[in-house]
Amino acid sequence: MSDYQLAIIGGGPGGYVAAIRASQRGLKTCLVEKEKLGGVCLNRGCIPTKTLIHSVYVLELIRRAEEFGVTVEGEVRAEMEKLMARKQKVVEGLVKGVGALLKSNKVDVYEGQGKLAGSGLLSVKDSSGAEQTIEVEKVIIATGSRPAQLPSLPLDGSSVLSSDDALELKEVPGEMLIVGAGVIGCEMACLYKSLGSAITMVELLPRCVPLEDEEISALMARELKKKKIKLIVEDSVTSVRQEQGGRVTAVLDKGGDITVDKILVSVGRAFNVEDLGLEELGVEQGPRGHIVVNEKMQTNVPGIYAIGDVIGGYMLAHAASTEGIVAADNAAGIDRMMDYNAVPGAVFTDPEIASVGLSEQEAVERDYKVRLGRFPYRALGKAQVLGEIAGMVKLVADEETDRLLGAHIIGAHATDIIHEMVI
Ligand code: FAD
Repeated sequence: MSDYQLAIIGGGPGGYVAAIRASQRGLKTCLVEKEKLGGVCLNRGCIPTKTLIHSVYVLELIRRAEEFGVTVEGEVRAEMEKLMARKQKVVEGLVKGVGALLKSNKVDVYEGQGKLAGSGLLSVKDSSGAEQTIEVEKVIIATGSRPAQLPSLPLDGSSVLSSDDALELKEVPGEMLIVGAGVIGCEMACLYKSLGSAITMVELLPRCVPLEDEEISALMARELKKKKIKLIVEDSVTSVRQEQGGRVTAVLDKGGDITVDKILVSVGRAFNVEDLGLEELGVEQGPRGHIVVNEKMQTNVPGIYAIGDVIGGYMLAHAASTEGIVAADNAAGIDRMMDYNAVPGAVFTDPEIASVGLSEQEAVERDYKVRLGRFPYRALGKAQVLGEIAGMVKLVADEETDRLLGAHIIGAHATDIIHEMVI
């Protein structure tokens, strides 16, 4: 008999949720994590960014206090050390909570690097280099992702930063160049702008948040401009050079250069697939290196499943968790398929963006006869009450059936109200 009926490699929002589900389904389950429980989401992603973003929300609200008839006397400023300390406290509390949840659900946690070591075997190497082999019936790979690097922009952790580094800064950079105006780039731009950095963004594609509906991207670009965040589109950085005094210059493809204190590279994510023993077992990988799975989250190798960022799909924490539940159920012999019809996406910029389903462009490409509904925030009583009148709600429907195909919101609390559209 094997040591475990199911082993999970990776303790992020995919892996830990899968482990708990599997245990609740009666499988003897273990989880292997080489760093900290909670993965990117809790330690270097969703939670730390959103905690810092909430701090600057408080800051901006106090700055605008007079608008609401409230007088604030004295200096109002954010203190990096205190902001970061609060962020750390929130992160540590949640990481501890995950550990407690795993324990109370009787999941054994192994600290170390997990690797498929042949059919039915998993090796775990701890930080001292000691290795042990566990016999397992089935495995879920939930190893996630890390910041992608560009050959022209090698990360150095001091002047050329990844999003991981940007969450550990001790001082607010005077000037910052953000390469990549996707979700992470735009969130960081709004965050550091509020803290006092002068921000320029460079994006290769023709628009910021390029995966959103075009109209939403255009409104976001307008909001960035209002904040005096400079957005350069259809351009890229070809090289960087260090300057005296720790500054750094980025050379742009279309000519010109920009000298700043820090460059933040947010150009996507690389999959954690190395050193997992995938090739030896013949686990299929896609052209981008991600692990290929079917709707049951099964790889091509029987008994091996994969979920979360490492499968290169939505790259969202809640998607990873749902995939984890589906994989765990299938591993427990309960037939389940992943349904991606209504996966919400949330962007914690100022204003927020949230969407679900098809954009107008996607609906047209799929030959729907599209009917649109739009409503501006400024016409909404609640928006006037909050003094948050920038934004709109856009609904995309099928004219023939009146079915809602997609919903796109930019504006205050977009990430809270998208759920009604999801339902
Ligand atoms: P991960 O969270 O990457 O966890 C994988 C875990 O596996 C890690 O802990 C890693 O140490 C471990 N691991 C890797 N290899 C091994 C091995 N061989 N052995 C043992 N352990 C291993 N998503 C949202 O939904 N909302 C947001 O607001 C949001 N904000 C984000 C902000 C930032 C800055 C970033 C970077 C990401 C954000 N995301 C957000 C994305 C979200 O963090 C990821 O989609 C999510 O963490 C993916 O979960 P996962 O379980 O697949 O992998």
